[in-house]
Amino acid sequence: MSSLMEQDPEIGRAIQNEIKRQRENINLIASENFASRAVLEAQGSVFTNKYAEGYPGRRYYGGCEFVDVAESLAISRAKELFGAEHANVQPHSGAQANMAAYFATLRPGDTIMGMSLDQGGHLTHGASVNFSAKLYDIVPYGVDREVETIDYDEVERLAKEHRPKLIVTGASAYTRIIDFPRFRSIADEVGAKLMVDMAHIAGLVAADEHPFPDPHAEIVTTTTHKTLRGPRGGMILCDEEHRRAINSAVFPNMQGGPLEHVIAAKAVAFGEAMKPEFVEYQKAIRANAAALADELQVGGLRLVSGGTDNHIVLVDLTPMDITGRQAEEALGEANIVVNRNAIPFDQKPPRTASGIAAGHTIDHEPRHGSGGGATCGQADSQGACLPAERCCEARGAG
Ligand code: PLP
Repeated sequence: MSSLMEQDPEIGRAIQNEIKRQRENINLIASENFASRAVLEAQGSVFTNKYAEGYPGRRYYGGCEFVDVAESLAISRAKELFGAEHANVQPHSGAQANMAAYFATLRPGDTIMGMSLDQGGHLTHGASVNFSAKLYDIVPYGVDREVETIDYDEVERLAKEHRPKLIVTGASAYTRIIDFPRFRSIADEVGAKLMVDMAHIAGLVAADEHPFPDPHAEIVTTTTHKTLRGPRGGMILCDEEHRRAINSAVFPNMQGGPLEHVIAAKAVAFGEAMKPEFVEYQKAIRANAAALADELQVGGLRLVSGGTDNHIVLVDLTPMDITGRQAEEALGEANIVVNRNAIPFDQKPPRTASGIAAGHTIDHEPRHGSGGGATCGQADSQGACLPAERCCEARGAG
């Protein structure tokens, strides 16, 4: 980073401070992860200089022979990893993957059923402030008040009443296995398509630590940076029938030039996810989350749904009479980073919230050195933790 430091010390220092922050805090934000050095290297590469509108072999620019190699590898690895017939690796983010999936399957005004934001769904699943609710007619569903898991009978009842064109499942704050076959049969009953947004659980799915959404869903969207541990970005998987519609929804309908440096980093991350160590890593994520859930309960906290099947633990702070915001701030002072989170049927506004979400996406290797960092939170391409000095070197941090 010396040249960056010389040329732009303000940004150079911001990055150094972020390295320090990541090294000195225990990060329990479920949607974040530590991409490997190889992923960071690909993402910081000269592919960022290249325009490549179109798809491999069918570009609107010359000089695309090497980005074609990278994007083709990303596509073939994604297909193999998730057993999909087609992969589009160009969405810049998870929200854009969802937007493209909607554009490919719906017309404005069509009805979507999605899990509501306050029950654990994502903004793009139909929150009023999001494009999804502005363009489409949203029928929200949620969890059962008692057991706090998805109320599948209610989903079925609502589907029969509203006959949506698309049912969306997958969530941002849901701690239990999602019953994809049940969603499929509800979708079939009403002639709807099924879309699974597996953004949070993609790494678990890749390692067979959560049931596969395929072949139950026509379309599967994901981010690549949560449990999957890749660069920040999105991806769409689908069957052959939807290939053309998905591709043209992403480009030229929604995006222009793809971020080929990020796509190369996605390919690297998919390659890492095919290795046996990745399966061990995902098993460790679940084991760590389960241990965290147990200990929090032993300590007297109430967990939404009573525990976790995945990487997320959702704590209801109502019985302790503190808000999610207060807990987030207090834990932050102790160098533990979590996010405030609404709990189902929350009485408080989202900026205050009654809960916190804590996730376990860090490796079983001690990456942070909780007392101040013998390791820096970065892994090399094999997933091993780097000593702090070597990591900063590796990233050119000077
Ligand atoms: N889908 C789900 C389930 C998510 O949890 C998120 C992000 O938190 C997204 C989509 C959107 O991803 P991005 O922030 O990359 O747009």
